[in-house]
Formats: sequence, structure tokens, C-alpha cells
Amino acid sequence: MDCIFCKIANKEIPSQIVYEDEKVIAFKDLEPQAPVHFLVIPKEHIKSADEVTLENCDIIGHIFSVIPKIAKELGVTNGYRIVNNCGEDGGQTVSHIHFHVLGGRSFAWPAG
Ligand code: AMP
Ligand code: ZN
Repeated sequence: MDCIFCKIANKEIPSQIVYEDEKVIAFKDLEPQAPVHFLVIPKEHIKSADEVTLENCDIIGHIFSVIPKIAKELGVTNGYRIVNNCGEDGGQTVSHIHFHVLGGRSFAWPAG
């Protein structure tokens, strides 16, 4: 499958990995929007948040359980923002579900 994040998960293309276990991998975003900006993805290809079902949703809890550990390891101590862009109007550019974790600065709300 021609999916850049599957290729990162399979180590077919390099990335700056910050966390990995048997189910998920986290790596630094190529175009960081904050002092700390990493992406957490399931190794399994799920296209977007719109394709999460009761059958495959355990991985989402798993992802949220590793985010606090990674954030702490990367020195984020004052909160962070978790972002999921879903589909075209949501601004998703890579069709493999991923959660952005941004920290090291404060963020405005609501997002534009
Ligand atoms: P989204 O717009 O939510 O789909 O986010 C895709 C993100 O993936 C963007 O922030 C890109 O900078 C990032 N990205 C794309 N290719 C790579 C890559 N090879 N390694 C790390 N981050 C990437
Ligand atoms: Zn994929």
C-alpha cells in the first residue's frame, strides 16, 4: 500500500522515532508547529478518525495512554494540545490516522 505512515511504521522510510511498541509508533513531525511536535499512529492502517469502529477502537485508547509518557519524556510539563485532523474539511493530508501532540508553547482556542 502506498501510505507514507505505513512506510514509517515499517521502517521503509526514516523518521525521528520518539516511541514505539508492538501496536503504535510516534515520531517527530517533519514541519513542527511547536517546540515539541510529534505524531502518534497505529501500526495498523486505519484511514482516519471517521473509520474508527467498536471493532478497532482499542488502539485509540492505547494511543492516548502513551501520549502522556512521551510528552513527559520530551520535557513537556505545562500541558499540550492533541489534534486529529479528519478528512478533507478537517485538513487531513495523510490518510493514515494520526494524532498530533504539540507542546512547549501555549495555543489559542478556538482553532481557525
Ligand atoms: P495532517 O495534515 O493532519 O494529515 O498531518 C500530516 C502531518 O504529517 C503534517 O504535519 C506533516 O508535516 C507530517 N508529515 C508528513 N510526512 C512526514 C514524514 N515523512 N515524517 C514526519 N512527518 C511527516
Ligand atoms: Zn497507512
